[in-house]
Formats: sequence, structure tokens, C-alpha cells
Amino acid sequence: MTHEMCFSTSDSGSSIQPATPFEEVLSVAVATTENTCGEIVGVEKVTACLSCRKCCEKIDATDQPGFVECTNSKCHFKQKLTLSKNEWYAQVLFENQDNKCNLVNLTFFEDTITKLAEVNGSSLAIDELTQSSIEAVFYESSNVLVTYDLRTKVVERTELAW
Ligand SMILES: [Zn+2]
Repeated sequence: MTHEMCFSTSDSGSSIQPATPFEEVLSVAVATTENTCGEIVGVEKVTACLSCRKCCEKIDATDQPGFVECTNSKCHFKQKLTLSKNEWYAQVLFENQDNKCNLVNLTFFEDTITKLAEVNGSSLAIDELTQSSIEAVFYESSNVLVTYDLRTKVVERTELAW
């Protein structure tokens, strides 16, 4: 839940003071993330995709020599292929510790892949990411605590489970 700060006008000149926060807890809280312990059973897919250096949208690979053109209709930026940034992500199968029949397909992006390497007690810099180094991170992992988005199944946080 995000907290919004409320401001009210005050009599004492132009200073801004926060209003009294709402004390009542909202009765209908819809969970959007799941926080659970378990094991990464295996790696389904490790993929790199190009992203536009100007608008950060994903770019589909083309067979144009030397450059790629952004497919975002508002952008169409043409960038050097050699300077195009590869963005890695991995799809893995996760087994919930409390419910072993409950396998979930989770997606890790670069930030959570490198974080998981830290959780394993090693380190992996963003520029060291390759298909095999990423797979190794998942095979080395043991019990982990993950927080993932229930709708997109994207892992937002990972830490060591005790
Ligand atoms: Zn673009």
C-alpha cells in the first residue's frame, strides 16, 4: 500500500504541514504480491532482448545490418547494433515450500538475478550475465524467499530464507 502525504493550508504563513494521517485501516486490502519460501526447481528459459536506448522499449530483432530500429511507433530510433543493450531475463519453475504441488512459473530480471547470486553467497555483475552464468545462479540456489507479483509473476525481491 502506498502512503500519500496530505497537505493542508495553515494559518501561520506559508508553511506546509502534513495533515493528520488516516487511522482507519482499509478493510478491503487486495494482495497484489505473494511472499513465499521455496526452491527453484529448474530453469525454463534464459533470454536476452534488446531494448531501445532512447525510450527503453523492447525491440524485436531484425536482420538489418549494423543497426536496429525501435519498433515503438512513437520512437523509431535507429541505434547501432554494437551499442544496443541486452536485457536478460529468466523464466524458472518455483516450488512453494508449504505446498509442493504448487509450482509457479516466475520471471527474474537482471536486478533480481544478481540479487539471487548475492543470496547464494557469490556475486555476479550485470556485465557478467550470460546464459550459462545466469542458469548457474539458479542451480546453485537453495531455499529462497521470493516476493513476486501475483499477476505478472515477476519476482520483485529475493532473499535468503531461514
Ligand atoms: Zn525507442
